[in-house]
Amino acid sequence: MHSPIHSLKLTALTLLLSIAGLAATPMPKLMLLTGQSNKYHDWTKSAPLVKSYLEQTGLFTVDVVTSPPAGADMTKFSPKFSDYAAIVIVYEGDEWPAATKAAFVTYMKNGGGLVSIHDTDNAFPYWKEWNEMIAVGGWGFKADGNIGARDVTAGPMIRWRDGKMVLDEITPGTATHPARHDFPIVTRAPEHPIMQGLPASWIHASDEIYSQLRGPAKNVTVLATALADKTTHPTATGENEPMLMTITYGKGRIFHTTLGHVSPNEKPPFTSLACAGFITTLQRGTEWAATGNVTQKIPADFPTAEKISVRNQ
Ligand SMILES: [Zn+2]
Repeated sequence: MHSPIHSLKLTALTLLLSIAGLAATPMPKLMLLTGQSNKYHDWTKSAPLVKSYLEQTGLFTVDVVTSPPAGADMTKFSPKFSDYAAIVIVYEGDEWPAATKAAFVTYMKNGGGLVSIHDTDNAFPYWKEWNEMIAVGGWGFKADGNIGARDVTAGPMIRWRDGKMVLDEITPGTATHPARHDFPIVTRAPEHPIMQGLPASWIHASDEIYSQLRGPAKNVTVLATALADKTTHPTATGENEPMLMTITYGKGRIFHTTLGHVSPNEKPPFTSLACAGFITTLQRGTEWAATGNVTQKIPADFPTAEKISVRNQ
């Protein structure tokens, strides 16, 4: 039988070992994959902000993987996806090598995480598995160099009508968006871990309402929509367009945010990226993609149904 003092020592030792064990548990690692944009966007402005937003959660470490520049030799571009809890992508550019695409598909099927931000869903219009992962995407370059690869052959558009998601297979047209403006975003899946505690509606600052995105639209949950309002923007679709989505692909989890425009000629502050709503949904969506859960609190400065909330950058 142990003496009381001996037992106390054992307890203290166990406690110390437990604390050491906790401290030694590494935070999940995220890969931020970036390095190319089309002429309408600038990853050198958006990716550093995305990195800092993800690090601000205190939940992750973030490694940035930068691809070769547009037109350069891509044959050796082969990031080690399997080292990461999720891959956050700010990239629209050259095709990856076939082996890299295959490795990414395997990583996702085996339970990986993917976060697609804004113009990232313009990438890879003819990569079948990519289109399944993002559910719907925009524009995309055709073989002849013209934009608009995601036409009616790419699949339906996601609409929100009469309180539910509808796939529109009939309406023609490729992706579009009204001019940048502040607009309300409406929660459509309040029970989803990413959305729990967010307001039913909130105003997002100065962004493009991505509209008429097309794709396979399978295994997708629409988390939030925005009305592309014809009464204020005559060329808008007049539809509730999906802004935030989750998709499952094999055992993998995808968070797709269409928000986060920044132009090449834009000077700071980059308002759409500074919106506390963009930041919060990105942080929560990334945690969900990486772990399947969301542990973060809703910040006090989250936008309301009446006004935007933009943070200092
Ligand atoms: Zn844009």
